Amino acid sequence: SIVVTGATGHLGQLIVAALLRRGVPAGEIVALGRDAGKLADLAGHGVNTRQVDYTDPESLRTAFAGADKLMFVSGSEVGQRVTQHHNVVAAAREAGVGLVVYTSIANADRSGMVLAGEHLATEREIAASGLPYVILRNGWYLENYTGQLSTYLQFGVTGAAGDGRVSAATRADFAEAAAAALTGAAETNRVYELGGAAFTLTELAEEVSRQTGHAVGYTDLPAEKFTEVLVSAGLPEGFAAVLADSDLGLARGELYVEGDDLAKLIGREPTTLAEALRAAR
Ligand code: NDP
Repeated sequence: SIVVTGATGHLGQLIVAALLRRGVPAGEIVALGRDAGKLADLAGHGVNTRQVDYTDPESLRTAFAGADKLMFVSGSEVGQRVTQHHNVVAAAREAGVGLVVYTSIANADRSGMVLAGEHLATEREIAASGLPYVILRNGWYLENYTGQLSTYLQFGVTGAAGDGRVSAATRADFAEAAAAALTGAAETNRVYELGGAAFTLTELAEEVSRQTGHAVGYTDLPAEKFTEVLVSAGLPEGFAAVLADSDLGLARGELYVEGDDLAKLIGREPTTLAEALRAAR
């Protein structure tokens, strides 16, 4: 069976859907999440479901027993993930899974972004486990931008990313790459750097302007000022600071992805910003 963690989340759900499209029988998929309510829908489609928490090793051991492959979607509780992910890798090792596919972050080994540290620690633990693995270093989601269209139209694009270029791709394309890796398209014990066509936030504003007919610009702010803007828009302080820190990483080129690993894994060009923005409108 293929066990998928984070299957109650945006990416995990798309990975399960992509596996089904690739012909993996629902009964061979085990979808995991914390929120049992969100698992009911998948169960309705014949997918096996189990409730786990990365903080509960016993729940992971039970869920991984007998699994052939593990799709390990990184957790979302920033700051707690080293311990949580350690629990996942330890349970995978105990189960002796034949493959671990992990969703990391772009350029994890050279990125100075706060978010990268936990991913790199997890990558190292997976490699040290001796289990066959595929590391998918996912770039930024295009949805991080296309989901903010109404804000852009009201206030323009705001950030702290300077002229940095971001190789963003849709969650659906990252999910397709994960499903490909789980069904034999990836080399084992390899790191893949995944991203789509790169753009600056100025180019993002230009594309929004082009498609909507509303002239929208990009305002670049110092990180502290950008954090304040996000907090005044209602984001929790810690999350706002992480987003501003990520923009500084973007400015340093740490969300720029070289090569065409994503296109190769999914067998086509990834969805572009222009296409994703059109679809979001
Ligand atoms: P979501 O927030 O939609 O999903 C996160 C998933 O992780 C959920 O299924 C959630 O389960 C699960 N999860 C979180 N904490 C735990 C825990 N302690 N134990 C078990 N499961 C847990 O994120 P996405 O699907 O959009 O993205 C997937 C991952 O990618 C994120 O978790 C994060 O690591 C990373 N990410 C990447 C971004 C990018 O731009 N590349 C942006 C944002 C995140 P439940 O809902 O049941 O609680």
